Amino acid sequence: MTAELMERADQVMAATYQRFPVAFEKGRGCKLWDTEGRSYTDFVAGIAVCNLGHAHPRISEVVSRQAETLLHVSNLYYTLPQVDLAAWLVENSFADRVFFGNSGAEANEAAIKLARRYFKDRGEENRFRIVTMERSFHGRTLATLSATGQKKVRKGFDPVLDGFDFVPFNDAKALQAQIGPGTCAVMLEPIQGEGGVRCPDEKYLQTVRKICDETGTLLIFDEIQTGMGRTGQLFAYKHFGMEPDIMTLAKALANGLPIGAMLARETIAAAFGPGSHASTFGGTPIVTAAALEVCKILVEDRVIENGKAAGSYFKEKLIELKDRYAIIEDVRGLGLLLAMKLKIDGAPIVKQCMQNGFLINCIQDRILRFIPPLIISEEEIDQLIECLDGIFTEAVSS
Ligand SMILES: *Cc1c(COP(=O)(O)O)cnc(C)c1O
Repeated sequence: MTAELMERADQVMAATYQRFPVAFEKGRGCKLWDTEGRSYTDFVAGIAVCNLGHAHPRISEVVSRQAETLLHVSNLYYTLPQVDLAAWLVENSFADRVFFGNSGAEANEAAIKLARRYFKDRGEENRFRIVTMERSFHGRTLATLSATGQKKVRKGFDPVLDGFDFVPFNDAKALQAQIGPGTCAVMLEPIQGEGGVRCPDEKYLQTVRKICDETGTLLIFDEIQTGMGRTGQLFAYKHFGMEPDIMTLAKALANGLPIGAMLARETIAAAFGPGSHASTFGGTPIVTAAALEVCKILVEDRVIENGKAAGSYFKEKLIELKDRYAIIEDVRGLGLLLAMKLKIDGAPIVKQCMQNGFLINCIQDRILRFIPPLIISEEEIDQLIECLDGIFTEAVSS
């Protein structure tokens, strides 16, 4: 069945993804089952999307109830779930207003447009440049790939959008030097996800905030991967004793339904008046109803606390492996956004984990990334650690 599906996909699908030879049929909690009936423990969670795990009964119920009531009407009208979700996000963050789209890239597009528009409205016509970080990832649309500090993402799509300047992450001096009179915003991930799970020094983000304040530059946080409890706080900025002016969310916001959100402070959000920006599906009832339920579950069921505790436990276990195997260069991350940097290629390790019933992810060739649902148990973590232990023993002895 899988082989046949792969062959059909090969004939009709754009070949943009390098896929594993597996097709999934169903999921429950942290488990997935493929079309051959094999089960896997999921340490990828749809790339930090399914924070509540698969087929969460409360999400399934809200989605089916909303599907039977109203799917879509357009943003020409008001709907309840959209407003309720925006109100929840405002109440639980620094922000005052929310714009909804359908993906991370769209949320970042909205942030980039808002930052430009804000200064245009103030008569600062030439203040449109945005400083972003080397090794960052902000999406695959033309504006967001232009903002992305990785050559491989931009390759073949020249000319990219003008107006982005890059500096090394975690280097406040370089940032200070790059900001000029034409700079409208600084945009960064508080912890770089796709770039290799890179955490900033303790004071870096506070310094970035200070530099932005002193220069009147807007600070945009891309929390598409770090948000919704992933790092042990609802939003990663809450770890660092500072707040951005604009924040983008997507991935885990609706636990698997497509959504993106751009949140901003009142004075800045005011630059988006009627007609300035729009999205047909943005904030459509079924997706926002699911996202609102996600938010409630995160709090009511103490899911973020569980993820935080599981993350500390997991990181300790990964560090124990590092102490025993010289092929492990580094273990890093926060909450359940964890990574292990190897001195060898990660792809064969991912493959062996899969053969043993565990899904893990490899980024930047040699970095294993662990981003399971926040409901992962210590027992499941122990099982993966045991599997990795076996694989590393073999790798060292061969
Ligand atoms: C995944 C991701 C994006 C892009 O989100 P899409 O929904 O794929 O457009 C942007 N920024 C960060 C930090 C991400 O992790």
